[in-house]
Amino acid sequence: MQPKPTVQGLPVYQPGKPIDEVKREYGLQHVIKLASNENPFGCSPYVLEHLLPSAKEAALYPDGAARELREQMARHLGIEEGQLLFGNGSDELVQLISRCYLQPGTNAVMADVTFPRYETNCRIEGADVIKVPLKDGTHDLDAMAQAVNDETKVVWLCNPNNPTGTMVTHDDVVQFLDQIPSSALVVMDEAYVEYVTDDRFPDSLSLLSEYPNLIILRTFSKIYGLASLRVGYGIASPDILTELNRVREPFNVNALAQRAGVLALEDQSFVQDCRTKNTSGIEQLTSAFDRLNMRYFPSQANFVFVQTGVPSEEVFQHLLEQGIIVRHDTSWGFPTGIRVTIGSQEENAAFIQALEQFIQKRGRERVL
Ligand SMILES: *Cc1c(COP(=O)(O)O)cnc(C)c1O
Repeated sequence: MQPKPTVQGLPVYQPGKPIDEVKREYGLQHVIKLASNENPFGCSPYVLEHLLPSAKEAALYPDGAARELREQMARHLGIEEGQLLFGNGSDELVQLISRCYLQPGTNAVMADVTFPRYETNCRIEGADVIKVPLKDGTHDLDAMAQAVNDETKVVWLCNPNNPTGTMVTHDDVVQFLDQIPSSALVVMDEAYVEYVTDDRFPDSLSLLSEYPNLIILRTFSKIYGLASLRVGYGIASPDILTELNRVREPFNVNALAQRAGVLALEDQSFVQDCRTKNTSGIEQLTSAFDRLNMRYFPSQANFVFVQTGVPSEEVFQHLLEQGIIVRHDTSWGFPTGIRVTIGSQEENAAFIQALEQFIQKRGRERVL
């Protein structure tokens, strides 16, 4: 049996190594995972306290329209309920968008490098992928606008960008949107928006009325600390959402996830607290990188991309043996680059110590 041609040879997504696997493999008691941009502080205690009674409803199908979550979210964001679509993680929305708008003969424009699910889903649909290199780790919006052609159906903007953590500003995005034909859907993936502190960051919601070809993706997986429950959402014009709804599974977001989303929205002090701690964590890591003479991209997310000066595979392996899981990928095109999630203060300190010890012992080929 052969799968359809677009699926043949497609890479399988490699998630960050799970904690238990690393404990077993290396005989470690304590392992720190800074690999998947999960919230080191978990989720709001208020969510945990009130979530469980909803498990009693497990025998029933969930509300396919996510009415309660929709109502709360619309109020929270100050938008209409009809501007929202929920997904089994924002990953599912990436899939729905690709399924809905892409096919052979069309193309999608994206940065090189960015979140890998865009490319994989485009390829599954048989669309061409046009990759535009980052400039200083940041989306090169002028070059991306240039790359758009009559066959372009989707443009992916990851802001802040994963894996580099960099952002494009409101003014940059407006100038960009003005150049994109209405035949192309612009996706602004804002998975890390709640971590952003730079006030030049796009007020993307305010752009929706002027640019009907825009969709914004957000998630409960990152700052809300609910990655396991899988709930993300898209914000767009009802016209776009009507199309996406045609390809959505009817019960795509489970009831516990919907309930957790509602509860999580009610505890905004948890979000504020995580944001503050994250900002200190970025400062903690980047001041260590400065001291160690390592280059990094300025981050507005909950991770930092750093070039250590030592082949990333080696750094990754050494840290792993010390019980610290980070992320590296040869396809990123930065031979000494790793992406490290901001942890708690103690986790960050343990990471810095392990990294520094290794660098001192091993030395560096490249001074960056
Ligand atoms: C983590 C992440 C997502 C996926 O989030 P889920 O809601 O858990 O599917 C989407 N986009 C980017 C850029 C991410 O980093």
